[in-house]
Amino acid sequence: MKPISILKYVTPFLVVAILFSIWHFKRKIVTVSETRLMLGTFVEITVIGGRGDDLAGAVEAAFLRIAEIEAIADRYTGSSEISELNRNAAVGRLVDVPVSDDILEMLTVAKMVSEISNRAFDITVAPVVDLWDFTGDGGGKIPDGKEIGERLKLVDCGKIVVEDGTISSEEPGIKLDLGGVAKGYAADEAAEVLIEAGVKSGVINAGGDMVLIGSKGRAGGKTPWRIGVQDPRDSNGLIALLKLKDTSVVTSGDYERYFIVDGRRYHHIIDPKTGYPSNASISVTIVAESAAFADALATAVFVLGPQKGIDLVEELDSVEALVMGADGGISVTTGLSDLIEYED
Ligand code: AMP
Ligand code: MG
Repeated sequence: MKPISILKYVTPFLVVAILFSIWHFKRKIVTVSETRLMLGTFVEITVIGGRGDDLAGAVEAAFLRIAEIEAIADRYTGSSEISELNRNAAVGRLVDVPVSDDILEMLTVAKMVSEISNRAFDITVAPVVDLWDFTGDGGGKIPDGKEIGERLKLVDCGKIVVEDGTISSEEPGIKLDLGGVAKGYAADEAAEVLIEAGVKSGVINAGGDMVLIGSKGRAGGKTPWRIGVQDPRDSNGLIALLKLKDTSVVTSGDYERYFIVDGRRYHHIIDPKTGYPSNASISVTIVAESAAFADALATAVFVLGPQKGIDLVEELDSVEALVMGADGGISVTTGLSDLIEYED
């Protein structure tokens, strides 16, 4: 046989072999995971894809988006947009002050959760939050009750009006704290960046505020993510395991930032009606489509406590909750029972 006719027979096999190799190379599952200190906590982004995907580039872009949100929403950074709003509000009323789309989004979610929770969530709680120090180093001091009472007069998110891309407040001295919604919002936005970059499977965990993209493994995979809910009194233990896909899951607890005086725990979730840390709950986990909403709602349900909190979440479509009450008892919404894999 002439060489040319051998090639005629071999070439199709060669082509198939090369195509198979490329397919096999791309099919190989790759995981990229990175953790950075941001938003006052550890933010971990994990993405799963094929060998040819630019997963590292997608992760970098997602972190950049989080940094952008932190730079405008952190009231402890002097140059942030929220700091400027607070400086203006300290010296007078805010009249139709334009805000960026990101701040607008966070304000809108915050106002909505405040309304449905009868103000258990209130971003104007900042003047009272400032009296407390849960950082650990200066912590341990209970503020003067009279001073808390004075500052409480400034706490009422009903006094801020958000419309047409602007914020107004009739009350001078109002001060905003987006700490209860910004982590969730940043996680939502980071997920958006990853999805736009083609990521089909991944997890963003911003200090307990998680967004789950797709399921665990390759696109279209059926394996749900299994998310552990931390035991609030044992950092190595779990109280539940949730099987979830394409959703957000956010936990707020009294174990994140706190100090103890005379056996009583004082922590960073403040009841806006009393100015003191709420002792209605120990931990709250919310499952919802939006992490920003879940973030604010977890704080609200924490303050409302198991009974009122679960009642509120049962009224909301496609939102589930797990609440550990002050006595350590666990309450869950009816829809959550299908998602819990184990509880002890
Ligand atoms: P999280 O970490 O989501 O539980 O939110 C707690 C943070 O939100 C605190 O560190 C405060 O900055 C702020 N905060 C505390 N209590 C409330 C509240 N009742 N409503 C809104 N924000 C709050
Ligand atoms: Mg929250």
